[in-house]
Amino acid sequence: MKTLFERVFSGNDEMYAKAVAAVDEAMAKLGPNAPATFGDTAYSLPCFYAMTGKKVATVGEAKAALENEVKAFMTRNSRTKDIFTSGVATALSAEIIELMKYAMAGGTPYADPVMGHFTDAQVRELGVPLVTRDIPGVAVIIGAAPTAEEGVELVKEYQSQGIFVTLVGGIIDQCVEKGVKLGFNVRNVALGYDLSSVAHVVSVALRAAFIFGSVQAGDYEGMWRYTMDRVFAFVNAYAPVDDMTVACGAGAIQLGFPVVTNDTEENNMFRVPKSLIIQPDISKFNATSLEARDIKIKITKIDIPVAFSSAFEGEIVRRGDMQVEFDGSRKTGLELVRAKELSEVEDHRFTLIGPDFDQFEVGSKVDFCMIADVAGKNMNSDFESVFERKFHAYINCMEGVMHTGQRDVIRVRISKAAFEAGVRAKHFAEVLYAKLKSDYDAVIDKCEVTIITDPAECEKFRHEVAIPAYDKRDERLGSLTDENVDQFYTCIMCQSFSPSHVCIVTPERLGLCGAVSWLDAKATNELDPSGPCQIVPKDHIIDENIGRWEEVNDAVKKYSQGALESVTLYSIMEDPMTSCGCFECICGIEPFSNGVVIVNREHAGMTPLGMTFSEMASMTGGGVQTPGFMGHGKHFIASKKFMKAEGGLGRIVWMPKALKDQVAEKVNQSAKELYGVENFCDMIGDETITEDAEALLNYLTEKGHPVLGMDPLM
Ligand code: SF4
Ligand code: ZN
Repeated sequence: MKTLFERVFSGNDEMYAKAVAAVDEAMAKLGPNAPATFGDTAYSLPCFYAMTGKKVATVGEAKAALENEVKAFMTRNSRTKDIFTSGVATALSAEIIELMKYAMAGGTPYADPVMGHFTDAQVRELGVPLVTRDIPGVAVIIGAAPTAEEGVELVKEYQSQGIFVTLVGGIIDQCVEKGVKLGFNVRNVALGYDLSSVAHVVSVALRAAFIFGSVQAGDYEGMWRYTMDRVFAFVNAYAPVDDMTVACGAGAIQLGFPVVTNDTEENNMFRVPKSLIIQPDISKFNATSLEARDIKIKITKIDIPVAFSSAFEGEIVRRGDMQVEFDGSRKTGLELVRAKELSEVEDHRFTLIGPDFDQFEVGSKVDFCMIADVAGKNMNSDFESVFERKFHAYINCMEGVMHTGQRDVIRVRISKAAFEAGVRAKHFAEVLYAKLKSDYDAVIDKCEVTIITDPAECEKFRHEVAIPAYDKRDERLGSLTDENVDQFYTCIMCQSFSPSHVCIVTPERLGLCGAVSWLDAKATNELDPSGPCQIVPKDHIIDENIGRWEEVNDAVKKYSQGALESVTLYSIMEDPMTSCGCFECICGIEPFSNGVVIVNREHAGMTPLGMTFSEMASMTGGGVQTPGFMGHGKHFIASKKFMKAEGGLGRIVWMPKALKDQVAEKVNQSAKELYGVENFCDMIGDETITEDAEALLNYLTEKGHPVLGMDPLM
């Protein structure tokens, strides 16, 4: 029998030796100057960079990293500390093994269902669901369960709780065998078959420390403290657990991630209180893990025949798998929330007007209206749009159901599998009822749902009720400006990851995540008066042009615990609002044209700044002010307050085409009102025009872009 020290040290040595072999092979085949990168990250070789502050970009540098910094972590004095540093050295060796796979492949070495490396954009995308606890934790499952049934059961259990699942080794094939979907969109990611692929999830945790926590590269203690306090991950390792896995486990424990295994003491496994836990009964892995990492699951029991979980929010239903589709672009397809009097609503009533799903032809497009009438003593018609926007997430969380769009342009697909499991109209009603009542219990006392599928009734409802309701709402929204409301709101939801970040949410500037509008913040405040959205009065204005208020400064000072002194709402140059990391878009100054480039998270390509989204995004974040760079929501682009202090949205010189198309209508409208310019978006460059700064300037000149008449930015 070996001691725990011996197991960790020998596992570390083994992983290190594999890394040396992988580097030597790459050196022989590619040479020392060959590029070595995972691609799509601004953090070099992320785990190594996080722990040492040193960058690695070539095979030769990877070799030096192994021989110097990684080796230095492998101290062997048999103190407890050495177990942990050896664990970290094991993870760093694993990361270099993976890096060599990417170098040898000249791109990704993986193919479906294995994903490997997460992009920075993916890490950022996880920000909002992690802070809202839609994703309450991250599971790392290593090895194969005794049977595929048991393995899949554990995966599904985590998925039903919203836990983000990552898989290493045999469990991947068990999922494939049982037809469990894999991929980032279903939050069930196959990292790789080799143990070294576990480095990809460690990389997510450490990049969270960079992106959201603003922890500096090389701050070893800062890194593990951040992950320990804020990243709710844990490991499940199936027996038999070899030395290398034990060594990786030691690294996990250093980061604050407990390890649960069914391996036994007879088989040389150890127990370490709260960190290394032997659980012989694998059906209890789930409960044991959640308890060990102190993860509490909020469950809304919903009586439907398929699973309901945020894991299915990004699931795609393809045409061939589709039983029936509601398509608001071709037919009537709408959703509506109406605030009513208490006497007008019968709680939990469901009404279906028209045929149910089993009466439609397979693969057909049908008409569909989904209406929730809500009532409550504290109800306010301003909340209608807040609740209605949640339908998208609610309906998407049903396994086998896909929802896109909003208002009267929704599209919903129901898969054959969901239909065969028994999903019918009443289950949509059940989901809306249960979720609205549980999420908004402070204001919704009664809720009833009506679904219409009869084509004539749908058409009638759309014209007589829904469209007038949307129009009325738009009028109200249009009348909401920063000038004519009495208060703004803070949002500090992201502080669980970005401890000093504060968003100030105004009618004309939504939160940078894109998920919190002024109305959302108002609703959040009324639902939970001591919660993340606090009222910011605006009685004392200091400078209207730049958007400086005494009360805003007081609020950011207070809620950033003194980290911030002063924030302006309309400037990117002077005391700009901070970013956490989960912004939808990043905007940065383009010096040649004196304008700004905006990129959305979905855009993977290059920009005229010579930086990708990830690289631009890494310039700001962690609640720190960085003049010249600003994270923001998509809807902010068309706002008349966008960079108002610097001349407004006329500064925008480049956006990816897809983003431009998304915002064109509103941006053109605002530009017309601000500058009297028609079709402003046609003057803005995109990747189909050029990605080069000089060529962009020529294009702007040719088009007579308004930025050319503006003052220099710097
Ligand atoms: Fe985070 Fe700001 Fe969005 Fe609130 S509004 S969730 S603080 S990004
Ligand atoms: Zn955030």
